[in-house]
Amino acid sequence: MSKEMKRNNRTVVITGGAGFIGSHLCDFLINKNYKVICLDNLITGNRKNIAHLLNNPLFEFKNIDVSKKIEIKVKVDFVLHFASPASPVIYLAHPIETLKVGAFGTFNCLELAKSKKAKFLLASTSEIYGDPKEHPQKESYWGNVSSIGPRSVYDEAKRFAEAVTMAYHRRYNIDTKIVRIFNTYGPRMLINDGRAVPNFIMQALKNKPLTIQGDGMQTRSFCFISDLVEGIFQLMNSSANDPVNLGNPTEVTIRKIAKLIIELTHSKSKIKYLALPQDDPKRRKPDIAKAKRLLNWEPKVGLKEGLVSTIFWFETAK
Ligand code: UDP
Repeated sequence: MSKEMKRNNRTVVITGGAGFIGSHLCDFLINKNYKVICLDNLITGNRKNIAHLLNNPLFEFKNIDVSKKIEIKVKVDFVLHFASPASPVIYLAHPIETLKVGAFGTFNCLELAKSKKAKFLLASTSEIYGDPKEHPQKESYWGNVSSIGPRSVYDEAKRFAEAVTMAYHRRYNIDTKIVRIFNTYGPRMLINDGRAVPNFIMQALKNKPLTIQGDGMQTRSFCFISDLVEGIFQLMNSSANDPVNLGNPTEVTIRKIAKLIIELTHSKSKIKYLALPQDDPKRRKPDIAKAKRLLNWEPKVGLKEGLVSTIFWFETAK
């Protein structure tokens, strides 16, 4: 056993650990010799994402709904709350579960952190900025969100989750962190996830039309999963308590990413334009100055490079 393995006897609870980001976090932390307890009710998480970890002595999986109750007997050093549907198509199909996991799930995770004297990290989102009137989005921006629109089930759940997190930090002095995650992509996204990157890749691989919603001139900034996970790890071990944006600041139009995916997959697909969903944000790009300053973090993987490895994964998973 290496010296590092002997030194690290820390235990991390990851809710949503069988999901896209959660399962990559499980891998990353196990590689650093953390003990990982993965909680997931598999609404959007997938057993396949953690199948390779099930026999690892550092890994434990519990199929539970963290919105109901969390019981952990062993000591815990970190609670990372990543459980939630995150794709607009899927959170609209599970509106109540999404609200509950942002609200009750966050309370339950914070109570766990409080009782274990553990640190807590909330997976928040760029969606808390809504359809932003400030560009790029800094952490100081309060957002432009409809409290009653279709996306509110996710946006307001995450805004509420941030409020609960700050309340526990202020009231109980828990060492809490909030990461505002911007659009992220990579292997292990669900094939039927509904978000732009997996949709376009699957459509391109099948030579079917790529479905652009609206005129495709809306923008997003896409971060590759390995960069995001590295940033989350830096944040978890930092002294920051205020929210920190993590994302790739390279802004692209949806039309551009669709064309790039057609090119990289050598697909015969054409583009089909559909109606833009209600309240779809027009522009999104993180200001990551704070992450650079506090965590010495910035993304390293370029869009083409990240898409090539994502496409490769989808080719074998489809
Ligand atoms: N989008 C699209 N076609 C699709 C899926 C999404 O044109 O098949 C658009 C969507 O309307 C939005 C952008 O791509 O403007 C990003 O959507 P996604 O669902 O990936 O994430 P969001 O950033 O909206 O949460």
